[in-house]
Amino acid sequence: MIVTKHNAPLKQLHTFRLPGVARVVYYLRDKHDCASLPTNNYLVIGHGSNTIFTSDFERPLVRVELRGIEMTESSEHWLLKVAAGEPWHEFVTYCLDSGYFGLENLALIPGTVGAAPVQNIGAYGSEVADFISSVEAWDREQHCFVQLEHDDCQFAYRDSIFKKNPQRWLITAVYFRIPKRWCANNQYAELSDLVEPTAAQIYQRVISVRQNKLPDPDLVANAGSFFKNPTVSAQHYQQLVSLYPELRGYANADGSFKLAAGWLIDKRGWKGKQIGSIAVHQRQALVLINSGNGCSADLLALATAIKNDIQQSFAITLEVEVRLFDDQSLIQL
Ligand SMILES: Cc1cc2nc3c(=O)[nH]c(=O)nc-3n(C[C@H](O)[C@H](O)[C@H](O)COP(=O)(O)OP(=O)(O)OC[C@H]3O[C@@H](n4cnc5c(N)ncnc54)[C@H](O)[C@@H]3O)c2cc1C
Repeated sequence: MIVTKHNAPLKQLHTFRLPGVARVVYYLRDKHDCASLPTNNYLVIGHGSNTIFTSDFERPLVRVELRGIEMTESSEHWLLKVAAGEPWHEFVTYCLDSGYFGLENLALIPGTVGAAPVQNIGAYGSEVADFISSVEAWDREQHCFVQLEHDDCQFAYRDSIFKKNPQRWLITAVYFRIPKRWCANNQYAELSDLVEPTAAQIYQRVISVRQNKLPDPDLVANAGSFFKNPTVSAQHYQQLVSLYPELRGYANADGSFKLAAGWLIDKRGWKGKQIGSIAVHQRQALVLINSGNGCSADLLALATAIKNDIQQSFAITLEVEVRLFDDQSLIQL
């Protein structure tokens, strides 16, 4: 049976905790209920840690709360089928405790397992796509369960086929294929001083770096990185380096460079700046926080001012990473 709530407070459904109500929320606890959802015009959510509702939300929400982990193995891989509502960090910890090493660089990312493929979550030199073999989903057009293989998912930097087609699939489970032969991934700056680390040491380091740098969404309302890290051409990168020799860029395979949006925002002095109760986090300029009774007008004003400033100062157009919604649909700045 589907649990239904009317006029549910949005504060409980997204970690940025702007006020408002969701007209109706369906809590999905059995995947077979996908077929009997009373409407097809819904928005799927997990823990709302990459989603910001800027007003009352008029369309139905489906909050995925499916649970369960099944494990099998082949000679070379651990094979796990994980229900979409499992909390991501709990799953990473379960893998580490069970000796299935590989996901430790992705520790402490908020949210659900089902949302992880949507924006191909990544951190500290690792991306979830590297461990996903396939995704089980309810196809909202065809009204049947489908299995999308890794290559069907079109994974890219913070992107996938699911992000491009938000109305098409409701992810019910993710299949992981984790190599039994483990190799430490400690190339990233904050991990590079670890000498021949164990998976547990990487896990602990990632957690401590994240706790130092990022606000805990349970304590301070936020939605993680507000903007994506931008990519610029090699020529544009060289121009910027000649002006800012301390600028660091990461070379992409196609010759372009990825820059840290947080560095650009910090460079322009935005850390700690605020409009009303919405502020740029003191320790990580890429994160906007709602320090109490923040409202969407202040959030949109602050985010737009940052975006315009970065455009004028560096000729770089920042793209929003979080999913911003008005009363019906996604909005852009
Ligand atoms: C403090 C903080 C730190 C963060 N750090 C990182 C980081 O290091 N790296 C990173 O990549 N992200 C990071 N994030 C962003 C966020 O944690 C991830 O995007 C996470 O995967 C969101 O999970 P969720 O369940 O909260 O998704 P939601 O916000 O509920 O949903 C996100 C998107 O996925 C869709 N979706 C969710 N579940 C499903 C489903 N079952 N089927 C189909 N579509 C679905 C939603 O429609 C929405 O478009 C951070 C966020 C915070 C608050």
